[in-house]
Amino acid sequence: MKSPKPVTGWPTLLIVLEAIVCERERQNILFADGKIRFNCACGDVPPEKKFVVLTEELGEVAEALQRPGQFSTKVREHLRSELIQVAAVAVAWAESLTTKEDKCS
Ligand SMILES: [Mg+2]
Repeated sequence: MKSPKPVTGWPTLLIVLEAIVCERERQNILFADGKIRFNCACGDVPPEKKFVVLTEELGEVAEALQRPGQFSTKVREHLRSELIQVAAVAVAWAESLTTKEDKCS
């Protein structure tokens, strides 16, 4: 089975960025509900703890790559979901390091 041809360009980027924002919101809700111990967006969480969360998420990407049927819709969607989670954790961590003076560069 061949992998579906990916869509490229701004529409795809916006879809992915929206998914990351949704995942960030999901993480915030989990934290507010006490289902996760800390939020990587918080500045008072030690970076070592954030690094552990990020590498755990990355490990789940590696695990997803081990699944048979790389081109099946189910496996592809799972891999995409895990990649979104990695990105959301990285974004949360970056949020914790961001000040009002920071701009796009
Ligand atoms: Mg994950």
